[in-house]
Amino acid sequence: MIDDDDAHRPLPVVLKPVDDELLSSWLARHATYYGISGPFFANWLMPGTRNLSLLDYRLGLAQVARLSEKLRCDPLALIAMTFIDTPAGCAELICRNRAPQICRPCADRHARDGASGAVPKHWRKAWRVTCPACGAPLSDTSERPDTGETLRDTSPFADVWKEAVAGETIVERFLHGDNSFDYSPIALMRALLVHTWRPCGANGRDPAAGWALGTIFPEFDNLARPIKRRINHAAVAALPISFRPALLAGLSRAIANPAILNAVRDETILRGRRAFERLCETARLDAQIPRESH
Ligand SMILES: [Zn+2]
Repeated sequence: MIDDDDAHRPLPVVLKPVDDELLSSWLARHATYYGISGPFFANWLMPGTRNLSLLDYRLGLAQVARLSEKLRCDPLALIAMTFIDTPAGCAELICRNRAPQICRPCADRHARDGASGAVPKHWRKAWRVTCPACGAPLSDTSERPDTGETLRDTSPFADVWKEAVAGETIVERFLHGDNSFDYSPIALMRALLVHTWRPCGANGRDPAAGWALGTIFPEFDNLARPIKRRINHAAVAALPISFRPALLAGLSRAIANPAILNAVRDETILRGRRAFERLCETARLDAQIPRESH
């Protein structure tokens, strides 16, 4: 137990973070270890703070100094556990709420190592379909753990899994400073999720909702229509994870053969076409901007 008398001292026991662990996850595990609630622990660490999750995105210098003293750790290591150094334009690819994906083999290993419930940063990244720590395909957190199924089994786009993994690699290379791309893969992910109308619906009369990506994978439109509000180019991280392999596979095709973008453009109309053209132009310009590694 910790109390106010300890407020000026470092924690007596500091838990070892798992690889790539998110700061809020590490702090929450300390709260559990000491038998106190997350908000109580947040306030004990830094008076006035109630929400550990906010620290993943906003951390002032005074907070870094305080946390590194309390948890006896290097300030730079602490900052690396957050998303605050995420390059501009990529922040929207970080899932803000609960992690949509999990690596089951790593979660089991964490539990065996006494770090049950630890959440690595990559479980929040909307461009990951495999685990960078062990290479396993990730699973949808809403799938039952005992089935042992991964996204490669449950996604309706499992047949393009290899291309999805290629798309994931492209995004990682881009974020780590590879300047060889003609288009920013991050901006292209947005462009491929632009909403448009197909001139003729299934009945041949009414226009039907579609997405730029549906030109590459026609089944995307059919599967996306029932949940169309959740599929929006302005919120790539909100794309249901089962659709993610399609987006990454479409991205890898467009990067390998940019002429595909012309075909996609020709299949969009009205506002959809204007948005697609604008986002492709942004993608072309963004590819030339030097980036910092994240
Ligand atoms: Zn793993």
